[in-house]
Order: sequence, then C-alpha cells, then structure tokens
Amino acid sequence: MDAASTEHDPARCTRLAPSPTGALHLGNARSFLVAWAIARARGWRVVLRIDDLAGPRVKPDAARRAIDDLAWLGLDWDGEPVVQSARLGRYAGAMRDLAAWGRVFPCDLSRREIHAALEAPHAEPGGVGAETRFARSLRPPLAPMVFDRDAQARGWRFATPDGPVTFEDAVLGAVTTDPARTIGDFVVWTRDGQPAYQLATILDDHDLGVTDVIRGDDLLESTGRQLVLARALGLAPEPRFWHLPLVVGPDGRRLAKRHGDTRLAHYRDAGVAPERVVALLARWSGVRGAGEAMTAADFARRFDPATMPRARTVFTDEDDRWLRAD
Ligand code: GLU
Repeated sequence: MDAASTEHDPARCTRLAPSPTGALHLGNARSFLVAWAIARARGWRVVLRIDDLAGPRVKPDAARRAIDDLAWLGLDWDGEPVVQSARLGRYAGAMRDLAAWGRVFPCDLSRREIHAALEAPHAEPGGVGAETRFARSLRPPLAPMVFDRDAQARGWRFATPDGPVTFEDAVLGAVTTDPARTIGDFVVWTRDGQPAYQLATILDDHDLGVTDVIRGDDLLESTGRQLVLARALGLAPEPRFWHLPLVVGPDGRRLAKRHGDTRLAHYRDAGVAPERVVALLARWSGVRGAGEAMTAADFARRFDPATMPRARTVFTDEDDRWLRAD
C-alpha cells in the first residue's frame, strides 16, 4: 500500500500504546495524534493498549489519566482498552515455546558483569538507563529448556541471531538494524518475573491484529528486536512500521521534564483548549492552514504523511507562549 493512499480498508488496524509511567506530554501527543489520524482517515481500526508492565515506574492512576488526556485531545478508539497486565499468561506461554525451542536462556548476570565482558567497554554508551550490549561470549550453550513462570524469579534473554534485520518503513523507507551487534542477547523476561516490553508488544500487536505500528523513531532499534522475536515465534504477517520524527527540546534531547512542564494536563489545567494544542501539533506535522485552533477530526482530514517534516521537531519557549496566548 502506498503510504499516502487514503483508500479505506477496515481490515487494517493501528494501536495507541501509552505507558502509564507519567502523564502524556506534547511529544507523546504528537505521535498518538498522527497515528490516530492516519488510521481514521483510512477507515482503520484503532486499539488502545495500556503498557502497564514497566514495574515500579507504573504510577497509580496514570492509565486513567492517559485515557482522559487522549479523549480530551479528541481521539477515540474501538472497543475496551487492552491492558498488558491482564495478558501475563499469554506472554508466559510464548516464553515456554521459546525455551522449549532453545531460543532463550536464563541469565542472572549483573549489569556490571555484562559490561566487564565487552571488548572495548569504553566505546559503549554508558550512564543511567543506557543499555549494555550482551557479549556473545556470555551466551551459554543453547538447549531446550523448561520455562516455569512460578519458579524462583530469574531473568531470561533471547539468543539474538546474527545478521542485519531489514524492513520497509512507511516513513523512512528501507531501514536496516543489527540487534546482534547493537544489543546482543536482550532481556525478554525480567528478574522481577515480568515479560519485557519487546516480548509483550510483539505478541500484543500480533494478537490484536495490528497491521500498522505507528510510533516515535526513538523505538527504531526496538523494531529490529521485535522483528527477530516475531520471526522466532513464527508470528506472521509482520506489521508495517511507521516511525515518526521525535519532538525534542532546544538541546536536541527527547522532550522530557528538563524542558519544563509540557504535559497535556498542565495545559488543560491552565485553560488551554485542546484545539489549540492540536493546532500546534498540526504545524509540527506539516498540516497547512492550522491557524489558531483545529479539531482532531480536522487534523485527520488534512494530515498527509507525505508532507510531514522528516526532521525532528524542536519544542521552544515560543511554542509554549503561543499555546498559552488567548
Ligand atoms: N508504551 C510504549 C511507549 O510509550 C509504546 C511502545 C510502542 O509503541 O510500541 O514507549
């Protein structure tokens, strides 16, 4: 399908997948609005999925607030929200298969031990939250194993096959990632006894019939990991991916608290109308004639993926002032 085609196809489906780890900000809102607009302009289904498996980072009540924020912006979805924490049995079942096929292995190594095994550890990105590549030398011999979710909690990693992973992105064109070189064997089941994001999301996207995954390009590396996992599990067909340019602060970093309060709730509480926010997101997304205010439905009618700027959008103080101006 041509990305710009607006031919109606009710067999296609996308999803909005907020993580209830904090309130939605303008960057998240832009990705959700664009995903929703692409789908609604083409008669696709839209599923709302709550990614509530991020352990201690999940904040009570944040799922309801994410739902409120999306609705305030003017977005809707089909059916009840799907909550990941209600699907643990499905994720464990996939782990049992992967273990029986010798594609995963238990691993209790600490981050420090994993880092120490790298040949040139200083060349690897460090810092809080940075990922550490899992050196191939640490992988034990692979063998069929039994995965027991109730056994003493231990982490499990996926034995990432060698070789690049390529896919055709609806926004970026041909993309090549190389998970074996960038991350190595990655975690699929955490030591806290929870499925990791990569495993949960690929199973959900498959089970919910998601044909089009539309999300920020900060997840590009994750897509390679999700594809190798999906292929190991025999999940087909693979969805089509649309990676959207991220919204960043003036320092070029992903929009976050350090850039001030850009939460939708913050603007809503300050009396800013949702149409004002949509108008800003429209300007960022290459929608002409957004003017002072625009509804989400109007955005969906006018948004064209072909004219969306490919460069990252920079949120500035001026944008903030413009939102607040009457
Ligand atoms: N909940 C994930 C996030 O907010 C979404 C990931 C995805 O779209 O697959 O980053």
